[in-house]
This record gives sequence, structure tokens and C-alpha cells, in this order.
Amino acid sequence: MGFDSFGTVSFTTEAKTEEFLDYLEQGKVMTTRCRKCGATYFPPKMDCPGCIDSEVEWVEIKNDGKLVTYTVVHYGPSGFEDEAPYTLAIGDYGDGLRIFGRMNKEIAEEDIKPGMAIKIVPVKLPDDKIAYEFQKA
Ligand SMILES: [Zn+2]
Repeated sequence: MGFDSFGTVSFTTEAKTEEFLDYLEQGKVMTTRCRKCGATYFPPKMDCPGCIDSEVEWVEIKNDGKLVTYTVVHYGPSGFEDEAPYTLAIGDYGDGLRIFGRMNKEIAEEDIKPGMAIKIVPVKLPDDKIAYEFQKA
């Protein structure tokens, strides 16, 4: 998953978007785990790509992530022009779970270091939208 495809979150039709957003409203950042092989995916998926006839369950993402890498976006993609500059980051949440998202805007760029502890937090956006962002843990 590259930074290029990142809008807010580019969910595909197979993603469990509605439930994900419901959980965000409740203050939880959740994703799905395969009951068969135990793999966790983000964004949440209906099925495990590795297993046939897989069943997935919702699990809350533990807030013990570490920043893997980040990039500062100076020119937002179409529809996000006004929001630049902002920082996109990838957090490692263990067990192969890697999550991409935005860093909280209050964090100065010089304070962003790979390896730093980051938590993932639901945030309200204008227009009654909800998303999540990374904050310093
Ligand atoms: Zn599986």
C-alpha cells in the first residue's frame, strides 16, 4: 500500500467501511482478524486474502504502535488541496499490522522520528465526518 493511493482512507468495496466508522464514532479504532490464521489486516476486510472460507472478527488496535516512516505532503491530491501540508505516516502495530494515516497537525515536523511511539485516535472532521489520526503516545 503506497502513499500515492492515500486520500483520507481509500477503502475498497470489499472493506467493512460502515462498521469501521461506527467503531470510530464509539471512540475505537478497530480492524479485522482472521479466525483461521490469526492474520490482522488494515483496512478491515470481509475476508482473509490468505484463507478460503475465512471468518473475520473485529479486534481493537492496541495503542502501542511505532512510527515506521512518514512523508510530508505539501500539495494535497484533488479534494485535499486545502489541507496541505500534512504528514502521512505508517505505524507498525505488531504481528505484521501496518497502518497508514495522518499525523496530528500539532506535532512539529522536527519532532517526528521513525521509531517514536504513536497511538491511533479517532478524530472528528468538519461536515460530521470521522477519521483517525496518529498522535504522540
Ligand atoms: Zn486467514
